[in-house]
Amino acid sequence: MIKQQTMHIGLDDTDSTRKGCTTYVAALLVEKLEKLSVKFLDYPNLIRLNPNVPWKTRGNGALCLRIEHDEGLEDQIKEATIDLVEEQADLSFKGTDPGIVFFKKAEIPEEAKTFAKDAITGIVTLREAMKLIRRFEGEALGFNTCRGIIGALAAVGETLADDHTYELIAYRLPENCGLKRKVDEASIFEMDELTRPHTFNNVDSEKGRVIITPRGPDPILFGIRGETPEIVKKAFGLVKPLEPVERWVIFRTNQGTDAHLKRAVTLNRLEPFNSVIVAGVVSRNPRIIPLRHVIFSIKDESGEVDCAAYEPTGALRKVARQLIIGDNVEVYGAVRKPSQGKPLTINLEKINILALAPKTVLENPVCPKCGKRLKSMGRDQGFRCEKCGTRFGDIRKVAVDVKRELKAGLYVTSTRSQRHLTKPLRRYGLEKQSAAEGMIETWHFP
Ligand SMILES: [Zn+2]
Repeated sequence: MIKQQTMHIGLDDTDSTRKGCTTYVAALLVEKLEKLSVKFLDYPNLIRLNPNVPWKTRGNGALCLRIEHDEGLEDQIKEATIDLVEEQADLSFKGTDPGIVFFKKAEIPEEAKTFAKDAITGIVTLREAMKLIRRFEGEALGFNTCRGIIGALAAVGETLADDHTYELIAYRLPENCGLKRKVDEASIFEMDELTRPHTFNNVDSEKGRVIITPRGPDPILFGIRGETPEIVKKAFGLVKPLEPVERWVIFRTNQGTDAHLKRAVTLNRLEPFNSVIVAGVVSRNPRIIPLRHVIFSIKDESGEVDCAAYEPTGALRKVARQLIIGDNVEVYGAVRKPSQGKPLTINLEKINILALAPKTVLENPVCPKCGKRLKSMGRDQGFRCEKCGTRFGDIRKVAVDVKRELKAGLYVTSTRSQRHLTKPLRRYGLEKQSAAEGMIETWHFP
């Protein structure tokens, strides 16, 4: 009997704005490893990291393959991985800093899990990553600045033991990359109808647009997100591609789980580059700034911050516009550090309206004699009844409640501006508490 070994292979940052995608490298690696007869312990994990790190503009996703293999194959597996990254990564591009981590512990240690959570919600350093890798006798390989090692280790450390989702990604032939994507749009709307609520972020209903196809030169034709491997595979069967699909893989991921958000106790504890959930009372009425962005302020006993709903947030922006001083809210979003005279600002992803303040307007009182609404005679000049002519020097305007159009509850940014990690409304109530046992038989092609 040949001794079996476990290996977790973490990959990050092989892509650039002009080519590639780390999920594609993982897809190719799946096929290579399968030829070496390894056993996959899980679907490839696609881990989205903190979307606010200043050096990342794209999806910030890292990958981990978890396998069991014959003891003698270790070197071949490592070589296959390194060769593939060298061949696929856009190494000459400034800002592409690939990293590979080989982690050979069967159980992922708590410290690595904590490191992953920190990389998803905040900022971690390469030094911390290297310290952990050494401590647990892992191996790391980095290119350029080596920053990709951080994400590679974070992908290893995030075991998706709680809430998670799946994404089936279909890839294009290399010769089609850069050309317009050809997929039958009507079939995507139909797929959404037939699989909802168990798939999500297929279409933007506000704009009537499909959003499973990315833009840009990467090799992804489309990706379908959903609750189970079965449903994303079924949905894939319903979508009609109008160009060849070179390959597809089902990933298990933290997308759509709000994993990036951390609850902050008070407003003075917010840190730039983190994503937070924090409660406060509206302290400045919404104002519309150029480009149709809406800004309002909230405060608690510790401080005050601005909250911004940018134009692409769509429905969320409309909600923000209707808030008034005194409304009790919980806001979700990324903390942006103060700059150019602007205070600390939360870029909103969601608003949970806990309680609406009464909205009142001041009206002139009615005449106690004949019931007609009185006329003001000017500031502090009292009122006069136009019907009976009586003057009243010492009565004031009265506050009258106005109905609020807004309702309490949770509001989410429009589908097209949701981050990979944002939990969409459709997923509420479908959250998972544990990882599923076993895998479906065919989870990738070829
Ligand atoms: Zn009167």
